[in-house]
Amino acid sequence: MTTKPAAAAARATVYGYPRQGQNRELKKAIEGYWKGRVTADALRATAADLRASNWRQLADAGIDEVPTGDFSFYDHVLDTTVMVGAIPGRHRDAVEADALDGYFAMARGTQDVAPLEMTKWFDTNYHYLVPELGPDTVFTADSSQQVAELREALALGHTARPVLVGPVTYLLLAKPAPGVPADFEPLTLLDRLLPVYAEVLADLRAAGAEWVQLDEPALVQDRTPAELIAAERAYRDLGALTDRSKLLVASYFDRLGNALPVLAKAPVEGLAVDFTESAAANLDDLAAVGGLPGKRLVAGVVNGRNIWINDLAASLSRLGTLLGLADRVDVSASCSLLHVPLDTGAERDIEPQVLRWLAFARQKTAEIVTLARGLTQGTDTIGAQLAANRSDLFSRANSPITRDPAVRARTAAVSEADARRSLPYAERTAAQRARLGLPLLPTTTIGSFPQTAGVRTARADLRAGRIDTAGYEERIKAEIQEVISFQEKAGLDVLVHGEAERNDMVQYFAEQLTGCLATQHGWVQSYGTRYVRPPILAGDISRPEPMTVRWTRYAQSLTDRPVKGMLTGPVTMLAWSFVRDDQPRAQTARQVALALRDEVGDLEAAGTSVIQVDEPALRETLPLRAADRPEYLGWATEAFRLSTGGVRPDTQIHTHMCYAEFGDIVQAIDDLDADVISLEAARSHMQVARELASHGYPREAGPGVYDIHSPRVPGAEEAADLLRSGLKAIPAERLWVNPDCGLKTRGWTETRASLENLVTAARAVRGEL
Ligand code: GLN
Ligand code: ZN
Repeated sequence: MTTKPAAAAARATVYGYPRQGQNRELKKAIEGYWKGRVTADALRATAADLRASNWRQLADAGIDEVPTGDFSFYDHVLDTTVMVGAIPGRHRDAVEADALDGYFAMARGTQDVAPLEMTKWFDTNYHYLVPELGPDTVFTADSSQQVAELREALALGHTARPVLVGPVTYLLLAKPAPGVPADFEPLTLLDRLLPVYAEVLADLRAAGAEWVQLDEPALVQDRTPAELIAAERAYRDLGALTDRSKLLVASYFDRLGNALPVLAKAPVEGLAVDFTESAAANLDDLAAVGGLPGKRLVAGVVNGRNIWINDLAASLSRLGTLLGLADRVDVSASCSLLHVPLDTGAERDIEPQVLRWLAFARQKTAEIVTLARGLTQGTDTIGAQLAANRSDLFSRANSPITRDPAVRARTAAVSEADARRSLPYAERTAAQRARLGLPLLPTTTIGSFPQTAGVRTARADLRAGRIDTAGYEERIKAEIQEVISFQEKAGLDVLVHGEAERNDMVQYFAEQLTGCLATQHGWVQSYGTRYVRPPILAGDISRPEPMTVRWTRYAQSLTDRPVKGMLTGPVTMLAWSFVRDDQPRAQTARQVALALRDEVGDLEAAGTSVIQVDEPALRETLPLRAADRPEYLGWATEAFRLSTGGVRPDTQIHTHMCYAEFGDIVQAIDDLDADVISLEAARSHMQVARELASHGYPREAGPGVYDIHSPRVPGAEEAADLLRSGLKAIPAERLWVNPDCGLKTRGWTETRASLENLVTAARAVRGEL
């Protein structure tokens, strides 16, 4: 295909870039500052260096317009809270005393003051700090950080575009402040917030911004008519300002739907729209509203949140279609590159041929530049890049890694019956009770026990070759012995081996499955200074040999009580990895499920009577739009059933989830057909138990009675009270007693005390039945 040169030169741009630096310099500087080892000035200097080097990298690669304001010491939503002066009352003194320390106090809390709540940024694994607003909130503009960063970039000679969280999204992401009625809607504060944005826009214009980008990803979610009217008003008012830069309103992560006509008609100069697969409907929808005559369209054609190379020819053809729909078309990634690692060039352990299938932030930047050039100057000028891209795509499509005939045949042969247990739940319980012989209100834990420094050192020693495998395994066995003997002494009923051998609940399995890749430097920000290295589900997935059986068997050999087998479920494996984009996710989930099914079968054959398959991410990857949810929940629950459906009726399947809100997926939880579920509940005071009950959830459940996110030791009486309130919702025959989640981040002292209290509480309440 050849594209004719476009009339206006297409610009290459991005909305944001990874913040951490090549060697996670930012993490080190910030954590050093917290520990008092790095001064505030040194921290600021490191930050300025990182920004400068990011802009240089982008400009050298050919990016025409670099973003500013995408950088952050912790989180860009928290930065927006500072920009609009919405500092919670409890943090005001700290912020006034010292802006930087006050900022970190809002992010992390202090001994006396709780931090802002943290939650997921849309359906990504990035967490933002939730603004707390109320009827008394007074907004005041503080554009200093935005202005300073813009000036920095301009002084370095860059064409720069400040990127701000838009006012509608900011309010829609907020929650009522503590003490404010739960039905308070932050969006009602829009009229108070807009003048503050007007001030910031005036300051940015004065500082030299030609364009300012306002991010409104909240508009890709289902929105009420009132919310759309608010969005319309926001951009009518901001558009009407005279003292402002040109406005680019950006959306990403899904299709705009009803919000598209609202934004298309708004008196702003440009829109940035996601045109990747998951938002493909945007193209037709944009054509249907007559395009964006007279406006700039920034086309997000390179996936900003996955790590696969772009299909350049397909993107060029999409861009060609878009040329007819706007005054000027520029090229970008679909969203900020914050969600992908920095550079594939740092990876040494991935085969060179496979590495060529991958594009991290730096490679995506090059793709964007290539596409902009092809669009402007014609495809002939990027012939070499197109040919290389074609050959990389071909190699990926035809590799034995992505096409394993055995896996494909097995996946294709899956039948409805494979995903169904041989007896329905109601008929399985008697067999399980007889086999397990547990008391009423049985006690258990979620899987992991404290990951001591000793275990982590042993793992590092093994990696560095300081100890051999046998030495490492001795360490793990010693750990398992300790965990088992503690649980026996404490009087727990269903034991666990403690997961000492696992670095991470997803990575541990990914490392053992064929078709998965691990990176050495593929760090992605999860929140603040916490970075994760998600595995890459690159090919057809299979399990060459058992992954957990020997540890569970060893643990079981030490005790007469049942030891739970412990696996990570297929949905969570996908949610916390980069997943291949060349086949539906459902297909990949099925492959992972079959690999887990083999593991479940082997555990059962080794005598394991209780097997837990964790799915903490089931709720979290729920699609943003309600219309897409049934399909997702359909394949997600099928994958879980496929991994667990092959066991005998008297083998008890547990699952675990840790998210506060389950109300909207109770049906899906039931569809998992697990026998027992443990859930996070201690903070919400058994709210979860009431929710399950009100939806008629018929199975056994263990709403957590011990909040493991805090070092606080709950007293036995407190846990007993929670149990009593749990009993009001769930009958004693179906109520389990357990903590909220795994204990790996806790210390041994508090773990011991808390679990002893938990057993005491269970015994006390049993006595009352
Ligand atoms: N079994 C895991 C553990 O105990 C579950 C972790 C989780 O739910 N995130 O650590
Ligand atoms: Zn959990």
